[in-house]
This record gives sequence, structure tokens and C-alpha cells, in this order.
Amino acid sequence: MRDTETEKRNQLIGRVVIYGGGNSAMDVARTAIRMGAQDVTVISREEHNNMSAHPSEIKEALEEGAQLINLRAIKSVDGDLITLERLKTIEEHHSGHSHVVETGEYENIEADIVVLAIGQLIDETLLKNTPKITIENKFIQINNIMQTGHEGIFAAGDAVPSQRSVTTALGHGKKAARAINAWLKGEVYQPAPQNEVATFDKMEPWYYSDAPRTVQPHLETVRRKSGFAEVVGDLDLENAKFEARRCMSCGNCFECDNCYGICPDNAISKLGPDKGFEFKYDYCKGCGMCEAECPCGAIAMITEDI
Ligand SMILES: Cc1cc2nc3c(=O)[nH]c(=O)nc-3n(C[C@H](O)[C@H](O)[C@H](O)COP(=O)(O)OP(=O)(O)OC[C@H]3O[C@@H](n4cnc5c(N)ncnc54)[C@H](O)[C@@H]3O)c2cc1C
Ligand code: SF4
Ligand code: SF4
Repeated sequence: MRDTETEKRNQLIGRVVIYGGGNSAMDVARTAIRMGAQDVTVISREEHNNMSAHPSEIKEALEEGAQLINLRAIKSVDGDLITLERLKTIEEHHSGHSHVVETGEYENIEADIVVLAIGQLIDETLLKNTPKITIENKFIQINNIMQTGHEGIFAAGDAVPSQRSVTTALGHGKKAARAINAWLKGEVYQPAPQNEVATFDKMEPWYYSDAPRTVQPHLETVRRKSGFAEVVGDLDLENAKFEARRCMSCGNCFECDNCYGICPDNAISKLGPDKGFEFKYDYCKGCGMCEAECPCGAIAMITEDI
């Protein structure tokens, strides 16, 4: 994949078989199609619905001509002959989980190239001689502030058990940076307390305007296959701001002033921009109007102990 990007093109030509069910497998399949492979087949151990690749990636790969064979494992490769074992899914009644088992039934397919797109695993060399770091199933074990068992060593992103996406890695980086900053100051990072989750019944959706989803520019299939042009275009600044405004801020006060304006007893004071509000309980008669009119479910009525 890296060679493809740097123009030092490898030879993804002929009949290409890719082993894996994740986004990397889809990337390789779609790259092989763009490089003119004659036949591109993805072999996945999982059922279609359990594949880790994003559904949109699978859909677009199929639209571009990739074939997908689910519930198969590559057992051997001999020249251009590949032996696949059929797998089946077994439901575990007691736990409700399902897992994939081998069936002992085999079939053959042919390929010129097999690409293994399974398991982006870490290189453990650096950590081998570092005491107190635990690696389980090729993932570095961390606590809730991203610290390994070795004080002062933090880990994040693909190296730790996670969703293994760019967004997750970025979030981890931010969290780890805060934890490292606190550690350097001799403190222990305390994540900010989370507000209670506001379920839909706590929201007042009529306060929000209808905001239809912005359609991102999407390259049609034939043009997609003929090169490496961007498939899903960016939002422009205006559209991005419009999308951001669709956020309903569930459970988090966004200072709309509704409660402040509606309180019949002036029991609510504004503390200034980004500082929220003070509820003065000596004046509050508990009518609940603020809670009822808060669009995002940020107010809870709690009975006082008398
Ligand atoms: C082919 C492919 C397609 C993907 N597609 C998507 C996608 O569409 N969307 C998505 O969200 N995610 C995708 N991912 C996953 C995404 O790339 C990763 O989840 C993300 O990059 C993880 O970030 P990271 O910082 O943890 O690790 P990395 O991005 O892997 O960064 C780790 C860095 O550490 C360096 N490094 C390693 N060992 C050492 C060492 N000993 N000393 C110094 N440096 C070292 C590496 O060279 C690398 O630069 C894809 C991954 C692959 C492989
Ligand atoms: S419960 Fe009623 S009185 Fe109390 S703060 Fe809310 S609106 Fe004001
Ligand atoms: S608590 Fe609710 S009603 Fe009051 S300002 Fe915040 S979002 Fe608006």
C-alpha cells in the first residue's frame, strides 16, 4: 500500500486474493482494482454482517467489482492454488454470542497474488526488555489514564485494545497528553465528570430547526475505478459549520437561556459566557418548568432531603 502511494508501484495485477475483513482488506482490494488487476477477491473469516470493515467501504469495493467470499479461511497456498476451508457460525445459547468454527470442508480457488491484510499488530521489540509492561494478545495493557504498568510510560492508539481507527487514536493521544502532563507535575489526571446521558425522552426536539444532512460530493463508480481521485469529497467550511449545528448537545447545557428566561421566580442567575448558570435553591419553588423547557435534557429535578 505504501509503495502504491509513493509511485514505486508494486504488481497488484492478475488474479488478486486478499485475506481479511477489515478496512485494510478493502483498501487493498480497491487499490488492486485501480491498478488494473484482472480479478479481485476478498476472503473473510467473518460473516458479511460481522466484518470489521465499515459497511460503506464494503459497499464501495463491491460496486467497483471486488468479489467477497465470507466464512472461509485460507488453509494453504501451493503455487497458484489456494485451499479454503469453509467456516460456519455457531450461536452460544447461554451467552448469546456467536463464534466461527471450522467445518472440515474444503474448496480451491486460484490466484496470482495473495495479500494478507490481517492483524495490524505492534512490533514488540522496543518493549521486550521494559519491566512491568504487560502485552496480551499483542496489545499493550493500560489503565484508565492510558498508563502502562510501568510508571511514566503511556500507550495509545492501535497499540492498545481499541477500535483501531484514526478518530480513536486522536482521542487517545489527547487523553494520554493530559495524563502525561499531570504525571510530569506529580499529579494524577482526573478525567472531568461526565454528565448523565440524556435519552431522547429528556430532549425537547421542537426547539431545534430541521437540518437535513449535507450531501458530500461522491465520485461515481466508473470514474472511481480509473484512478486514485478522492472518492468522498470534503465538506466546505460553510457545510461543515452547518453540520456542526446539527449537534443537539444532548445532556450538555449550551447556554440557550431558556431556563433563565422561563423561571417564574428568578431563581436562575447567569454566570457569564461559558460559565453556565447558578440555581438559587432558596428562591426555587420546584415548579419544574426549567427542566421541562430545557431543549437538551441538561437539568434534573432532584428531591431535597428535608
Ligand atoms: C491500510 C490501512 C487502512 C486504514 N484505513 C483506515 C480508515 O479508512 N479509517 C480509519 O479511521 N482508520 C484506518 N486505518 C487504521 C488507522 O490507520 C490506525 O488506527 C491509526 O493510524 C492508528 O494510529 P496510531 O498513532 O496508534 O499508530 P500509527 O499511525 O501506526 O503510528 C505509529 C507510528 O509509530 C512508529 N513506530 C513504530 N515503532 C516505533 C519505534 N520502535 N520507534 C519509533 N517509532 C515507531 C511507526 O512508524 C508509526 O509512524 C487503516 C489502517 C491501515 C493499515
Ligand atoms: S424549578 Fe421552577 S422555580 Fe426552580 S429554577 Fe426551575 S423554573 Fe425556576
Ligand atoms: S440548562 Fe438547558 S435550558 Fe438552561 S441554558 Fe442550558 S441548555 Fe438552555
